[in-house]
Amino acid sequence: MKNADIVIIGAGISGAVLAERYAQLGKKVLIIEKRDHIAGNCYDYIDENGILVSKYGAHLFHTNEEDVWEYVNQFANWYPWEHKVIAQVDGQLVPIPVNITTVNKLFGTNITTEPEMKNWLDENRLPIDAPKDGREAALNKVGQVLYEKMFRHYTKKQWDKYPEELDASVLDRIPVRTNYDDRYFSDKHQALPVGGYTKLFEGILNHPNIEVLLNTDYFDVKDEVTGYDKLFYTGPVDRYFEFKHSLTEKLEYRSINFVSETVDAEFYQENSVVNYPGEEVGFTRIIEYKHFGGQKSDKTTIVKEYTTDVGDPYYPVPNPKNQHIYEKYKAEADALIDVYFVGRLANYKYFNMDQAFKNALELFYSLENEVIAGQSK
Ligand code: UDP
Repeated sequence: MKNADIVIIGAGISGAVLAERYAQLGKKVLIIEKRDHIAGNCYDYIDENGILVSKYGAHLFHTNEEDVWEYVNQFANWYPWEHKVIAQVDGQLVPIPVNITTVNKLFGTNITTEPEMKNWLDENRLPIDAPKDGREAALNKVGQVLYEKMFRHYTKKQWDKYPEELDASVLDRIPVRTNYDDRYFSDKHQALPVGGYTKLFEGILNHPNIEVLLNTDYFDVKDEVTGYDKLFYTGPVDRYFEFKHSLTEKLEYRSINFVSETVDAEFYQENSVVNYPGEEVGFTRIIEYKHFGGQKSDKTTIVKEYTTDVGDPYYPVPNPKNQHIYEKYKAEADALIDVYFVGRLANYKYFNMDQAFKNALELFYSLENEVIAGQSK
């Protein structure tokens, strides 16, 4: 194993950002990546239909963080993409987040103004101060009927838990709109990298000080990885500690089984993403990648997402029980010297892409402030 100042486990967002920052600081960086590619779950490629698809589900970048936006713009050109999702409910396609159109379509109302929509929500929602779980969060926003139609079963399919078994934060990710705004996000910057995320990561990692070792499980070579100043670990936190606190209760993760199909038609569905919040199908959503960036092909690729317990961990499962187990690992992680845990899996936190960029940048600057100040003198 080559000597490196900085060793990074995992070539996803957190790993790539730290590698880039340390390389710029003049450090030799080694990234050890278990998979056969960079970019973590953002990895995308051109499939047999000539369409840029994401191997691990669609990734929509959106941020209000100017520093993150500036950072990512150094490594790719970005085109504006305001993501829109529709949901199949009661045989109709309706916007999600819930907006005026959603209510009119599902309830046959004729709401046209914001005050009317606010009125409708006031009459239908169940006001709950400080919702304590996902169910209360959704009831507080949209009330019982929309909760049943759009959130309860989707959540069960996604997490294998009902909303009451999850933190309020999970359902709080989805806003409610009192206007016609049908965008999934409302952040200032909403964009996708031209040419895809893998290309973006190639840009981030393109530095002579960075070496990436693919197809290598860190735990197989751990004993050979020595002599570094700092190690950044971005994998699942429990794996690092050999699951020692999980003998009786396992730290849970959700994975996704992606089932891809070629459809011999120009388009299969009207949006890039259609959610299926009902019980009648087992998948949560269908992604049609051709929509992103207006791609051209005779055929189209669709991917159905089935969430599962087995497979690569994608989502930590936010609830008090898992948090309690995580705290035990965190105490051990905090006690380690020169080893840092960063990212969704290592911090056991469900956060968006921009937050992953932000956290990695903040960690770097918090650790290296003095070095940077010294260099700029
Ligand atoms: N959700 C739902 N119905 C939907 C969309 C989302 O119940 O049609 C809930 C579900 O619990 C989901 C959470 O809201 O896990 C957050 O959704 P988001 O789209 O942010 O999930 P992600 O894209 O990260 O999988």
